[in-house]
Amino acid sequence: MLNLSNVETYYGQIQALKGINLEVQEGKIITLLGANGAGKSTTMKTIAGLLKPKNGSVEFLGENVTGLRPDQLLRKGIALVPEGRAILSSMTVLENLEMGAYHRKDHAVKADIENVMQRFPILHERQTQMAGTLSGGQQQMLAIARALLSKPKLLLLDEPSMGLAPLIVAEIFKIIKEIKDAGTTVLLVEQNAKQALKIADYGYVMETGNIIIDGKASDLIVDPRIVEAYLGRK
Ligand code: ATP
Repeated sequence: MLNLSNVETYYGQIQALKGINLEVQEGKIITLLGANGAGKSTTMKTIAGLLKPKNGSVEFLGENVTGLRPDQLLRKGIALVPEGRAILSSMTVLENLEMGAYHRKDHAVKADIENVMQRFPILHERQTQMAGTLSGGQQQMLAIARALLSKPKLLLLDEPSMGLAPLIVAEIFKIIKEIKDAGTTVLLVEQNAKQALKIADYGYVMETGNIIIDGKASDLIVDPRIVEAYLGRK
């Protein structure tokens, strides 16, 4: 579905991605692991079009999409939930959800908002409330729900569990699994390597701008290199 070949992305003179090769298969959850500063967010931003690669190519559904703008990629079916969520805190929950569907021309938006609210009852309850008054976990749910309203084929989630209490983290992982089961492919960046590998089909590990290990999630979760470096902590 998505193929990155030798992708190199820079911040000015600083090379953050040093030739990334990565494949996301349709219908799967793929997780991208690695320490702080390894280049995970840069990879996500490059896929979503927020950063343009200097070299290499990004292919999505058989089409070369390298260098397209975020709005063009959104129309093609790639939605990003960025680190820190980026919800619009002085707009209501409902307005945030409507923003998620702003580019759609079909007439199913209202019904889709109803559906999403059924899936996330707390958003239904709080629909007239300012988004900034929600708890961290509720804001993450809103950010995910808003992205789903663009009807993505590929959902990019950058650290969805960051800063959330364990019970809420478990709920977020359950939701990610449900999203996959409902037919949306997911690329998931996580610090929480163990839980990510538990729900993922395949994983990549990054270090200083390179992919250093990749494999089936069920193999990675018992791989001594992964256990020692990423699973020891939690
Ligand atoms: P984190 O979990 O901390 O977000 P990450 O794996 O997502 O880590 P990136 O944010 O992709 O890492 O950063 C990769 C490298 O690029 C790091 O060395 C970082 O310092 C650098 N970098 C990130 N953003 C910028 C920026 N706006 N300007 C300059 N360098 C940056």
